[in-house]
Amino acid sequence: MSHPVYARIDGPIVLIGFGSIGRGTLPLIERHFEFDRDKLVIVEPNKALSDDIAKTGYRHVDQAVTSDNYRDLLGGLIEPGKGFVVNLSVDTSSLDLIRFCREMGVLYIDTVVEPWAGYYFDTEDNAARTNYALRQAMRDEKAANPGGTTAVSCCGANPGMVSWFVKDALLMLAKDTGVAADPQSQGDWAALMQRLGVKGVHIAERDTQVRTEQRHPGHFVNTWSVEGFIAEGFQPAELGWGTAERWMPSNAHTHATGCQAGIWLEQPGAATRVRTWCPTPGPQFGFLVTHNEAISIADYYTVGPAEAPEFRPTCHYAYHPCDDAVLSLHEMFGSNQIQDVHHILDVAEIEHGGIDELGVLLFGHAKNALWYGSRLSNDETKDLAPDQNATGLQVTSAVLAGMVWALENPQAGIVEADEMDHKRCLEVQTPYLGPVEGHYTDWTPLTDRQTQFPEDLDEENPWAFRNVLERLA
Ligand code: NAD
Repeated sequence: MSHPVYARIDGPIVLIGFGSIGRGTLPLIERHFEFDRDKLVIVEPNKALSDDIAKTGYRHVDQAVTSDNYRDLLGGLIEPGKGFVVNLSVDTSSLDLIRFCREMGVLYIDTVVEPWAGYYFDTEDNAARTNYALRQAMRDEKAANPGGTTAVSCCGANPGMVSWFVKDALLMLAKDTGVAADPQSQGDWAALMQRLGVKGVHIAERDTQVRTEQRHPGHFVNTWSVEGFIAEGFQPAELGWGTAERWMPSNAHTHATGCQAGIWLEQPGAATRVRTWCPTPGPQFGFLVTHNEAISIADYYTVGPAEAPEFRPTCHYAYHPCDDAVLSLHEMFGSNQIQDVHHILDVAEIEHGGIDELGVLLFGHAKNALWYGSRLSNDETKDLAPDQNATGLQVTSAVLAGMVWALENPQAGIVEADEMDHKRCLEVQTPYLGPVEGHYTDWTPLTDRQTQFPEDLDEENPWAFRNVLERLA
């Protein structure tokens, strides 16, 4: 595999967070950019990582970025008008860091709209804990301060790469159904989705990475940030709410302000099961964990006014994490205790054959459903890039693509993945994604449905959220 050098980064590169994603992103930065080694600095407060960071040879600032110190701390590390802040940490406010970086004329990228520490657990106000609220604050900032230095918001695998997959999948579906398509603008893309009859999109993921050693009781095991997953898992379940839906759960809430593209449910996402489909398992349960892309995709593909759209797709995450993470969630919710030991599966301990199958399932159209995505194996990952498993590489390669795009478009303002050039981004990222494939299926959420117990189903609309959401009464 050749490693093209995409750009030179003048000035400091400030890498915030050296967890599973930070350490996986670093080798890709080294490979694909020219920069001064003495200008790269890693900001990571966890002292247990000091030895690992020392081995990289880069400067280490072992402090947490906080709401009190971020201007002084980062202000002392960056140079106005130059360089890149790459935020791959938890507990640091994306909104505040973006404002600061844009004030300073420094490029910025992150993989989620992260809030300051405490946001997820310190309030009883569930509406305030939604990703809708986090994203809307970012959209309001963009609207209030359009243009200017580029800050790429939410550019990991999902949110991030999956928005590029939606566009590729739409073009594939258009071709396979004989619809001429050459979308250029947001409006064109939304009109294309509407014309193709897509009713909704699942971000449908199956992670089959396992290790030989059994999970111990009291351990939370995952293939990426345990802290990050627990935080989002305890947020309310949330989804982009499409115009094809005729029924809403009784514990659902809409939003009166903002883009109005989503709803949230009065229950935690990681305890909410939905029916979906991925190529390897076929039909499966996924968790309706809230994610930025559920709202951003529903918003981006809206046709007509926000409050009364002519068309909008339903969109949500349907996540089957690795089996150990499923057991970890089961234990956590059953005991009402967050486990003390957190473990991220290392690339070396994962058994042969595990993959992270992450794609978008476009449903409700003439060909029923199309899954389009990456089926990257852990074995392949070992040959592609160091220091990460398959889940990590899908994220870090999206960060790489986002950085390349930002360097090529340095005055684009605040952008989400939906607003970037998906062709260019996937051109950079695809060499790291293993097989990227489209698969049609004739499965629907009503296929082979058990009938021993009465269910309140919508038989006429197989893909209705009423049939997708598991409800016990
Ligand atoms: P991790 O838990 O492995 O690492 C996070 C790191 O941030 C830790 O090393 C921690 O010490 C550090 N940190 C904590 N507080 C900090 C602070 N105040 N200042 C600076 N550093 C701090 O997590 P990860 O798996 O590397 O994930 C990193 C981020 O990426 C998370 O926000 C996660 O939600 C996000 N993520 C996004 C995607 C995506 O596809 N969009 C996928 C995976 C992870």
